[in-house]
Amino acid sequence: MPITLADNAHESAWRKEVQTFINENKGVFANAAEESEMGLFGRMGAIKEWRERVAKKGWIAPSWPAKYGGADMSVVDQFVMNEAMAEAGVPSNVGGFGVMMIGPTIIEHGTDDQKVEHLGSILRGESIWCQGYSEPGAGSDLASLQTRAVRDGDDYVVNGQKIWTTGAQFADMMYMLVRTDPDAPKHRGITYLLVDMKSPGVTVRPLTTLAGTQTFNEVFFEDVRVPVRNRIGDENRGWYVGTTTLDFERSSIGSAIGVRKQLEGLMRQAKKGGDEVSFHRASVRHEFVDRWVECEVARMLSYRVVSMQVANKIPNYEASMCKLFSSELGQRIASLSMHMYGTHGNVRNRSSMGYMQAVSATIAGGTSEIQKGIIATRGLGLPRG
Ligand SMILES: Cc1cc2nc3c(=O)[nH]c(=O)nc-3n(C[C@H](O)[C@H](O)[C@H](O)COP(=O)(O)OP(=O)(O)OC[C@H]3O[C@@H](n4cnc5c(N)ncnc54)[C@H](O)[C@@H]3O)c2cc1C
Repeated sequence: MPITLADNAHESAWRKEVQTFINENKGVFANAAEESEMGLFGRMGAIKEWRERVAKKGWIAPSWPAKYGGADMSVVDQFVMNEAMAEAGVPSNVGGFGVMMIGPTIIEHGTDDQKVEHLGSILRGESIWCQGYSEPGAGSDLASLQTRAVRDGDDYVVNGQKIWTTGAQFADMMYMLVRTDPDAPKHRGITYLLVDMKSPGVTVRPLTTLAGTQTFNEVFFEDVRVPVRNRIGDENRGWYVGTTTLDFERSSIGSAIGVRKQLEGLMRQAKKGGDEVSFHRASVRHEFVDRWVECEVARMLSYRVVSMQVANKIPNYEASMCKLFSSELGQRIASLSMHMYGTHGNVRNRSSMGYMQAVSATIAGGTSEIQKGIIATRGLGLPRG
């Protein structure tokens, strides 16, 4: 029996339905500043409009159960939808942290009151969320976090600092991990809280990246009062709630199509030619070939993860392989862009911006070294160092 990667009848019909929606609505990007110096940031207005149209269609929360307003899509249907959107160059997963991370966490661990209070506003895009996990001394080793919360009547009083908080300057709410028992073993003294970003004592300070953008922030907490009803799960059991949220993050990272689209964009530029393109150098042509083959490998790795999910298996080191390979490939493609443009690469905004922005993909959601540690021990069975 030959191995086939083609859609079956259902997938093919579903892909056509998604493509029809895309074709009818992608006009919102027609006037967006796609070639803008700021890339994605130049398209923010169009993305908001796109998001509203996806929400109206009922696809904003693909994995949420229908009873909470989600689309209740199968793993394969979600994958086909994301693939079709990536192919068309329109954004997928536009629900942000609210839909992708905290919504599913509240559905799994929240009380009925918390579901009523938060899920609807997330779906309607009325509440924007950020993730308060990392601290100056706690990133890969997240359980070392030190931001302290002390119970005082019906509130917790929070003091400490978070860092690398994406989008905190625009967020209404933060889901965060705090230390409630400093004497317990480090994974056991952590609690999961939902914090209103307008609470007195919260200070957000944007950080500028090497690409000149302000996506991250430092967030400081000084005697911030958080109602106990905003706790998800039990006190001191927040680590287990928090790792659920991270599973949602990890399963959504590493789009193989995204890297191939990046490469195709470069190939279009190369074929157009022009003085600044060093496409005729054999080494650059060979780089294109290597990256093309690697894009195929990335696609197969992502299919493997999806096929495990379809079979109700939980991808473990397989997801790490996918994330590691796709994010590092994104960096190699960004390097190719710089090689293709030669010295022009330093002044061409899209090329140099892409090169600088590609750095973060191998850090976010678990660094390459952490992924390699997982693959070495859980995948290859090598002893811990
Ligand atoms: C684009 C982006 C968005 C982010 N958004 C958020 C957000 O919204 N909220 C949030 O809380 N955080 C966010 N982060 C932070 C991110 O989770 C951390 O940067 C990441 O977990 C790494 O932690 P760290 O920066 O403290 O580096 P460290 O953990 O200090 O690592 C420093 C270096 O040491 C290596 N290292 C560490 N431990 C090991 C080990 N055991 N074995 C081998 N090498 C090791 C790492 O690989 C790295 O090279 C974001 C980061 C990025 C890049």
